[in-house]
Amino acid sequence: MSTLPPHPFEDRLYALRSRWEHYVADGQLEQFIEFAVALNSLAEHFSRLRLPGLVRLCEGLENAVLKHIGDPSAHPLGPKELVALQRQLDALFGSVSTSRPAAPVRRNDERPSVRDNEWVKPRAVWVVTAGREDEVADALSRQLRFFGFQVTLLSWREVPSGHEMPLAVLFIPARDAGLDELQQIAAFRAACPASQLFYLGVAAVIDPIVALMRAGIDVAIPADEQPAMVVNRILDLIQTEEQDKYRVLVVEDSRVAATLIRRTLAEHGIDSHAISDPGTLLETLRDYRPDLILMDMYMPRFNGVEATRVLRQMSAYQTLPIVYLSGESDTAMQVEALRLGGDQFLIKPFNPVLLAAVVKTKIGRFREMQRSTQVDGLTGLLNHSAAKARLKAMTEGAGPDGRFTVAMLDIDHFKSINDTYGHPVGDQVIRGLAWLLKARLREGDLIGRYGGEEFIVALPGTDPALAQSVLDRIRTDFAALPHTHPGGALYATFSAGVSGHPAFDTAAALTEAADNALLRAKSLGRNRVETAD
Ligand code: GH3
Ligand code: MG
Ligand code: MG
Ligand code: MG
Repeated sequence: MSTLPPHPFEDRLYALRSRWEHYVADGQLEQFIEFAVALNSLAEHFSRLRLPGLVRLCEGLENAVLKHIGDPSAHPLGPKELVALQRQLDALFGSVSTSRPAAPVRRNDERPSVRDNEWVKPRAVWVVTAGREDEVADALSRQLRFFGFQVTLLSWREVPSGHEMPLAVLFIPARDAGLDELQQIAAFRAACPASQLFYLGVAAVIDPIVALMRAGIDVAIPADEQPAMVVNRILDLIQTEEQDKYRVLVVEDSRVAATLIRRTLAEHGIDSHAISDPGTLLETLRDYRPDLILMDMYMPRFNGVEATRVLRQMSAYQTLPIVYLSGESDTAMQVEALRLGGDQFLIKPFNPVLLAAVVKTKIGRFREMQRSTQVDGLTGLLNHSAAKARLKAMTEGAGPDGRFTVAMLDIDHFKSINDTYGHPVGDQVIRGLAWLLKARLREGDLIGRYGGEEFIVALPGTDPALAQSVLDRIRTDFAALPHTHPGGALYATFSAGVSGHPAFDTAAALTEAADNALLRAKSLGRNRVETAD
């Protein structure tokens, strides 16, 4: 198994540059393909770091590159094509260096959002507005600052240059009749190619949205949606949860084929393990836990289809993606193989770009599917049943004297927020609390959305007094968090009840005690934290 390189990001940039240079020097199609693979791998890395601007630049270049891959007779490329690609490559490298701030900007009470040696995202956001007295701009800025962003208000006519590039630019429609919005947006796009550009308040009609996107807008938010959606989208941009590496099991009796496949996978940052005898498949699956199997069709003893049929009988492997690799080009036989449980068929000798693309998209969907059964869509927190299961495991693992606390939180008078401002604003308040909990609690703490506007947290290694003080600080901060709505900002509060292990020694007893303490907090006037006796 390969290990993570120490500087995965620098290595990818270096690989991209040197492969391009090799191709320019020799003009071989294989070198061009290697270059394409390196480009795809860099795009993948940016995408995992949630840097959509840089992903976009990579993809633009990838599209240009793929056109030339389809036609082997085009190589070596002529000077005109080379110059065009070189220009796009330069733009990509230029954006990488300007969108990477020199010094990390981070608040003390925040945990880093990415590993330090990789990428520190800018926390700057530009808000482009018609005037200083725009209420929406004002409310948005306050909310963004609350979450630690540095907000700069700009007018439509000033396109800054030489600044540190922002994470995002928010355009609020211009009221200045003489101004060409699209032209100004294009100027901002050119100045900050790697930033995410938002436009607030477009009519839900397709033509103007297409025009905005052509000018460089990444996300156009319709006028009837909440401006607060933007804050969610920006918070999503900085929430980089580095995923575990993708894991692929290669079942292939040919050493040469297995080596080639593993090399291609490694180029894309995908971990792999190979076995040559399908007889050891079950043990290997148990130990290695792959996200996908690349299965050779013809092997000694039994073939790939038989091995797949066996796996499909076992509930643990019913949805695991299985991709066949075969020299077989007989369509009837491919159809049969798919019917017997495979997900896709790739023909050997394989095209590395296609192999990587198939593996990555299949795994991406597989992981997303697994995630969606545990995670709440609105907040990204554990859902009710997942939180409950985690709490149960925590209680059972704690031992009779283990110390930890559980708290139930419930937003106060939430029904009236919904009634007054509408359901979408209510959702935004729920997300605001979810974000605050994620930002303030520790990595190993359990945070779940227990019900509509109700949350559960469990804090290992704490006693009720400490938990109460931690939650009380979050309570004060939440009360000061502005939630944007079309007319300005509203403020909300929550109440909480705390219980502790081992005073309460089962998951059910802990939640019940915390619930009772929460009820007491409500009856004592709300916006307070109470501890169970
Ligand atoms: P209290 O201070 O006593 O908790 O008052 P409350 O109004 O918050 O109490 P209640 O539990 O009666 O109201 C909760 C409301 O939350 C009712 C429900 O319509 C609403 N709700 C539940 N889930 C969601 C959701 O996902 N989004 C939004 N916007 N509202 C939700
Ligand atoms: Mg074989
Ligand atoms: Mg409630
Ligand atoms: Mg409530």
